[in-house]
Amino acid sequence: MSDYITRFAPSPTGRLHLGHAVSAFNVWAAAAEAGGKVYLRIEDIDQTRCKIEFEAGILEDLAWMGLSWDGPVRRQSEHFSEYSAVLDTLRARGLIYRCFRTRREIASSLPAGADPDETGFVSRPLSPTEEAARLAHNAAFAWRLSLAAARAALGDAWRALHYTEETPIGLRRVPADPSRFGDVVLARKDTPASYHLACCHDDALQGITHVVRGEDLRAVTAIHALLQTLMGWPQPVYRFHPLLLGPDGKKLSKRNADKSLAAWRAEGMTPEDIRAMTAPA
Ligand code: GLU
Repeated sequence: MSDYITRFAPSPTGRLHLGHAVSAFNVWAAAAEAGGKVYLRIEDIDQTRCKIEFEAGILEDLAWMGLSWDGPVRRQSEHFSEYSAVLDTLRARGLIYRCFRTRREIASSLPAGADPDETGFVSRPLSPTEEAARLAHNAAFAWRLSLAAARAALGDAWRALHYTEETPIGLRRVPADPSRFGDVVLARKDTPASYHLACCHDDALQGITHVVRGEDLRAVTAIHALLQTLMGWPQPVYRFHPLLLGPDGKKLSKRNADKSLAAWRAEGMTPEDIRAMTAPA
């Protein structure tokens, strides 16, 4: 067995659908090709949207597709203290700050229809007195990673931010510029970690050497490169797989995108049918 370790990291916010099957097949194929391992990680940080029955559904669907993983399943909700420790480290280094602006306030300061998560929103820490006043009123807040502080902390290493991509013709160094995302949210008052923080922490902790993920997660990989560099975590190599398209080559119809593997199965589809439906054209 090689030292190649990858992972499948679904969020149990619903049943798995064809898009997840594409990811899973890509992850397991990459591991098989390398003679490596696949870990299963349940990304259930958002306790309002994640449900234990969906987690059971994930295990059932993977077993049905004949995909088995190595070692114990890691459930992120059992590791909140580890993510808080990362936040404490970033906080002690002055890299994060509390932002009390609500989504609505941010949206109202943007052009109509703009997504507050996509506009590179940048704020600033409040003065200690202002902050104490908000906290005394129990105001909600987000912990944001300050791009300005990160840039200052990294110096020349800021310009060298990159990730390594595995392509069919070899490894490629991809420059990573997280600026377009602004000061990303790393945690909220009542949510101990964002996806970015928990994902990068766990990839490092679990010794993930290769991440295989959809093209839709390529852009945020720049945020991950920044977090890894700030925390001194090892960087996995990334491979991005194409997203599943409809028969017309366009985005998969909502009906098929939302239909669960369990529903396809109930209609008599076999795992081989699912493989054929999700195979690249
Ligand atoms: N939980 C994320 C998802 O389901 C993980 C993807 C990743 O980091 O590769 O999209």
